[in-house]
Amino acid sequence: MLLGKDTIRIRSALLNWYGENRRSYPWRNPDATPYMVMVSEIMLQQTQASRVAELLPHFINRFPTIQALSDASTAEVIMAWRGLGYNNRAVRLRDAARIIVRDFDGSIPSDEFELRKLPGFGNYTAAAVATFVHGVKTVVIDVNIRRVGTRLLTKDATDGETSLDDTLTQLVRTFIQDADPSEWYQAMMDLGSTICKARKAECSVCPLQHYCASAHSITASNVKPRELKRREQTFMGRPNRLWRGALVELLRSSSNGLTKNQALGALQFNTADQTTCEWFEGIVDALARDGVIVDARGRLRFAD
Ligand code: SF4
Repeated sequence: MLLGKDTIRIRSALLNWYGENRRSYPWRNPDATPYMVMVSEIMLQQTQASRVAELLPHFINRFPTIQALSDASTAEVIMAWRGLGYNNRAVRLRDAARIIVRDFDGSIPSDEFELRKLPGFGNYTAAAVATFVHGVKTVVIDVNIRRVGTRLLTKDATDGETSLDDTLTQLVRTFIQDADPSEWYQAMMDLGSTICKARKAECSVCPLQHYCASAHSITASNVKPRELKRREQTFMGRPNRLWRGALVELLRSSSNGLTKNQALGALQFNTADQTTCEWFEGIVDALARDGVIVDARGRLRFAD
């Protein structure tokens, strides 16, 4: 197994490369506040880093502190979430801010177990916030770290082989033991997103090529996807996720909310049949369950 005497060399090679090639993001700036880092982690769950980099400053400008975010109404926070998608994250983030203000005097906890209890967090985000906000040496494995780590360890593994999870965790622990964990993780993430990519590994320019079990063996044709993506539910060929986003966008532009008929018309369903109406009720129910909107006797508006 790849560890032992090569650990120090691999870590040095990676960190030297990172020193010269690190990607610049607002949440990595030395003046990024813990609050800004936490918000970025929620945004990065389902939005590309380049988009988060563009929109995060606007959000922080609108809600400069965790107290300001905790005071925000659902409508205000969803308005500020424009362009990021998956709007229920905005509501959960605001709810998390309220808990942090109420139970932790506005200071983001460093304890992973406490972080996991916050709305919208989950194991990965709790570990990432503990690490990137507080420097806690805990295991953070995102899709890029999983891919680079798996390839480093084993040739011919699927892209993120789950049977290697324990070994991968051990590998990560070994590498962060004597390093700044934030720096090491960010280096792995950048390597995975720029060089050791899912469908194309540019091993000839990779700082780890002399230590990697998969070096020069990854081609587009032999990439084995980890798993088939779960099929998204669609209507008229468009994922329901995007329909929900379209309805939220309509509500952003209508100060008094919309009747269901108005919303259906704006979504280009002027003569909705029963199937369309039932589908639309499902869209409304999903957003209401997430606390994003309320259906006030047929009039849709953002939740209070
Ligand atoms: S040598 Fe190739 S497969 Fe190995 S980590 Fe680098 S880019 Fe990925």
